[in-house]
Amino acid sequence: MDSRENIHRIASIIIIVVILVGTVIIHMNYEKNAVNSLQGNLKIVAESTSTSISKQICTNQCYLKMAGNLLSNIFENTDDFYSENVKHISKVFEEVNSADNIVTNLCFVDEATGNSITSKGIFNMKDSKIDYRTRNWYVEAKTSKNTVISDAYNDINTDKPCITISYAIYKKNKFVGVVAEDMFLENMNYYLLNSHNYNALNLYVFSPTGKAIIHPDKNMLGKIAPENNTDSEDRGGYFIQNYELNWKLLVLPRADILNKKINNNLLMIFYIGFIICCILLIAANYYIANSYKISNLTGLNTRYKLINDVIRKSYLSSTCLLFISIKELNSVSIEYGYNEVKTFLINYAELLRKLFNGEGDIYSINERDFVVTFKSSNYEEIFDSISNRIFEMKHCNITIKNDDIKADVFLTLFELNRQEIKSIKAYFPKLENVVKDLRNGKESFVYGKPQQFINDIESRKRKVMFLKKAIKEDRLVPFFQPLADIKTHEIQIYEVLMRIKDKDNFLAPYPYIIMAEKYNLIQDIDLMILNKAIEYKTKVDKEDKIIFAFNMSGKSLNDSNYLNKVSSIIDKYNVKHENIILEITETQNIENIDELLKLVNKLKKSNYKFSIDDFGTGFSSIYYLKNIPVDYIKIDGSFIKDINEKKENLYLVKSIINMAKAFELKIVAEFVENKGILDTLEKLDVDYVQGYYIGKPSSELQKVF
Ligand code: C2E
Ligand code: CA
Ligand code: CA
Repeated sequence: MDSRENIHRIASIIIIVVILVGTVIIHMNYEKNAVNSLQGNLKIVAESTSTSISKQICTNQCYLKMAGNLLSNIFENTDDFYSENVKHISKVFEEVNSADNIVTNLCFVDEATGNSITSKGIFNMKDSKIDYRTRNWYVEAKTSKNTVISDAYNDINTDKPCITISYAIYKKNKFVGVVAEDMFLENMNYYLLNSHNYNALNLYVFSPTGKAIIHPDKNMLGKIAPENNTDSEDRGGYFIQNYELNWKLLVLPRADILNKKINNNLLMIFYIGFIICCILLIAANYYIANSYKISNLTGLNTRYKLINDVIRKSYLSSTCLLFISIKELNSVSIEYGYNEVKTFLINYAELLRKLFNGEGDIYSINERDFVVTFKSSNYEEIFDSISNRIFEMKHCNITIKNDDIKADVFLTLFELNRQEIKSIKAYFPKLENVVKDLRNGKESFVYGKPQQFINDIESRKRKVMFLKKAIKEDRLVPFFQPLADIKTHEIQIYEVLMRIKDKDNFLAPYPYIIMAEKYNLIQDIDLMILNKAIEYKTKVDKEDKIIFAFNMSGKSLNDSNYLNKVSSIIDKYNVKHENIILEITETQNIENIDELLKLVNKLKKSNYKFSIDDFGTGFSSIYYLKNIPVDYIKIDGSFIKDINEKKENLYLVKSIINMAKAFELKIVAEFVENKGILDTLEKLDVDYVQGYYIGKPSSELQKVF
């Protein structure tokens, strides 16, 4: 569940990032489009403005030249320039001034006197105290054959930014003065800025020295403006050069209008959409987070919540968890349908609520396990306090469709220490593993500190790994323990016992046999040992006189095919069937006795011999004695070992012998560890003896005793 939670967190983050990135991309593209749509206009405006400026300047140059030509004519025809013509010239100047909005101050400056003629008449240099002949526009015109356009400068009278167009006048090729006109930039600016309809654009014109001739900010006119650099192009601006005037034109999109265009409704919808998505995701997160905490089925808190609750209690030195597992739900499902399994669990949860109301928190950690956590933290104390309810939990009836069904329940009470509480996230799955493992055992209630159980599981796991490795590396070998005839001391029979070769040691199989049975490896192991032992027999017993006894795991005997496999291995080596004894043990593991009987009878018909191992232990030994037509019984070693010390064992052995004799069976006594035991057995009616005193299991066949 933790990983599910992480997945949905990651998914939420991814969705938010995708929406955010999407919005940003759309935003940027939108901005780009807005700039692009202006870009086309920039060019049009730049080019048309450039033409307008050229036209304007050209018109003004024409006026100036006309005025110049007029003056030249007058100069040509009269010697006394000032006598009658001034009035006439002033009038012409005035007319030109008023004919054009931009042209002002048309005047003629006389080289000889420094006096000037304006639209208002003669200005005496002495009165005005300004000698125009020293001005740049005058000096430049003097050296040029054509009209001269000055750089922007501030007019000496008005201090307003202007440019001056000037033109030299000659009388019979002699320079006599300069005619000039001012163009105030404010006027030109006003006129030109209003001549285009693209109010989304800003228009700039710069003189070759970088001074602003046209600028949206009036105060910048005549000054070096910051826009006069290539950065403007990066901001989406467009530069062109007017080659006639040697002026530079720049058109820039207006930042405010651009933003207005971008921040339109569509983008608003995107942003609102983004916010709604975020809110929905947060709500979904909240909903899902809640669904982690409460089981849909039982309404109890979940495993996720349990772990979080325990983590919150990590300050505790210990705490107790009671696991309640429903062992069997299959029969409910088969009999009443899967839906009724749900009803069963809901009703069981209800029972737990009643039983532990207020005393502990109840969790539904999966579809068959519940956990109750307690405030008290000592498992013995809790065990005492809940013992009256354990019975009810285990033996209650749950009603389904008016039928009362007995709950088959397994309980585990664990006490966790602080370290285990602290690492509960990693530790809890181990607890669940223990519960799962114990659930299939014989006990119905287990309690204690869990580490021991976990260690058991882990050591079993290690054993299985070890066994699997040994199988893979072919390190399982047969050992042989002799059985001697009690009268003649002759050795004719050997019991085959498995050993695991581990470096220089041969390990006894006991713990591994149990693992092998649990993990379904036993059949393969037994067949492997059988094969090796028989192969060995054919080498050392060419005449086929010796009898080998093999241990058959009770679990293998449930598989009807198993004995066929055994038989086919024996036949492969052509060993006489009467020289094979199959020892049946762990009879409580045999599931279908009728099936086994059929098989045994079939094999007996082809001369195989059978023996009941560990006779006297386990239950219903006598039942099997009566039902399975065996040839030998092997009295369990635990009765033989201390037959001289414990009278009751002697009586028990005697009665087993009497019983076996009634069935005409051969009797083997195992665990004959010393001469005293052998002496006792010799007085009894035993046929064969086996044990360390006779001979230990060995890789070679021991011939004499
Ligand atoms: P088991 O069939 O009762 O075998 C006799 C066990 O007693 C053997 O232990 C043997 O070494 C031991 N033993 C023999 N003489 C004495 C004695 O005088 N005193 C004492 N205390 N013990 C004696 P082992 O070899 O460790 O085998 C243990 C059990 O494992 C066997 O009990 C048998 O049930 C099972 N087993 C052994 N080999 C195989 C095998 O290849 N397949 C199967 N399925 N089970 C096997
Ligand atoms: Ca045996
Ligand atoms: Ca035995």
